[in-house]
Amino acid sequence: MSDCIFCKIINGEIPSKKVYETDKVYAFHDINPEAPVHVLIVPKEHISSHNELNHENVDVMKDIHLAANEIAKQLGISESGYRLINNCGADAGQTVFHLHYHLVGGTAMGSKIL
Ligand code: AMP
Ligand code: ZN
Repeated sequence: MSDCIFCKIINGEIPSKKVYETDKVYAFHDINPEAPVHVLIVPKEHISSHNELNHENVDVMKDIHLAANEIAKQLGISESGYRLINNCGADAGQTVFHLHYHLVGGTAMGSKIL
């Protein structure tokens, strides 16, 4: 997707602070962190939101979840805990329409859901 900011990050057109990469996923520090650890994990394939997951592309979720485990270990929050969050659509506040998971941690968080 030529006008997608995360596609541009994945292909290097826009700089990012890379945390982790495989052939299927890319992870980088959020530019506006809301916790001491705030990493975005994205599939390299452009999938615009959770709504667009289907039987053909859902295998990448395995890679995203395993990436989250590796990154949590790498950044030292595996034992202290973290949240893995996806915002889908307007009511959830999704602003970038390339599927991504926020891995947040490094502090005790409050409300369990909202
Ligand atoms: P969401 O609101 O779930 O769509 O999250 C989008 C996230 O992307 C926000 O937390 C932004 O701070 C983050 N973001 C936007 N542009 C960039 C960028 N160029 N580099 C890193 N993170 C970004
Ligand atoms: Zn994209």
